[in-house]
Amino acid sequence: MKQKTISQPFSLSGIGIHSGEESIITLSPALPGSGITFFKDGRKIPALVDQVKETRRGTSLDGIAVTEHLLSATYGLGIDNLEIKVIGGEIPIMDGSALPFVTALEKAGIVEQEADKNALVIDHPVRIIEEKASLELLPCHGFKVDFMVDFPVIGEERCCFDSRTGDFKQEIAPARTFGYIDEYELLKEQGLAKGASLNNALVLGKDGYVNAPRFPDEPVRHKILDLIGDLILLGRPLQAEVRAVRSGHRLNIELIRRLSGK
Ligand SMILES: [Zn+2]
Repeated sequence: MKQKTISQPFSLSGIGIHSGEESIITLSPALPGSGITFFKDGRKIPALVDQVKETRRGTSLDGIAVTEHLLSATYGLGIDNLEIKVIGGEIPIMDGSALPFVTALEKAGIVEQEADKNALVIDHPVRIIEEKASLELLPCHGFKVDFMVDFPVIGEERCCFDSRTGDFKQEIAPARTFGYIDEYELLKEQGLAKGASLNNALVLGKDGYVNAPRFPDEPVRHKILDLIGDLILLGRPLQAEVRAVRSGHRLNIELIRRLSGK
């Protein structure tokens, strides 16, 4: 398969979910083999695992927070090379999902390039466990994610996405970030979630969803979205079946570090 980029530059703007402040991102085509690279304040920040600074609330690369929804959109569309100029400290949260990024990238046009993709092919099982959470990679002919979560109020949810038969745009990209009302108050005290609202998150109260979910199992779909957004930090596509149980950004990043030998 050939590498891909976009055919023309475009910009998007919006508030960050944590800072509440406006950011602008400008995405431009990039040369084959160059990968995904952020530019901020004159600095070049490759979208690679060694640039990860924080995984507590989203994945932050050096000076750029909440990169995973934008990166999930690029990975889901099979884009390998891209330059992303960022003005602000956070990628805009948009509607809390990856769909606005997918729509904008498709509108800009996705084009094949001369070079072939250089996938990391998993040929033996790799497993990482941390308390009740685990991630397991198994050999597979394509890319597949099987995710199980267990959250308060929601209970157990499981979802499987197979890139060979599934449609990322329809099944995964629209799933929004989610949070609990109680947690929201705590986050606000810590100076986080200043931009969070019912317009950019699926909110849960004690008895269930406060706003209408887009899928009956939207939270687990969003966990797949986040995982895909983290996997791009490998710097090459992954050919494997990923089995995730209660995993989050920290464990995702630890697995990618291990696979990258970092
Ligand atoms: Zn997320």
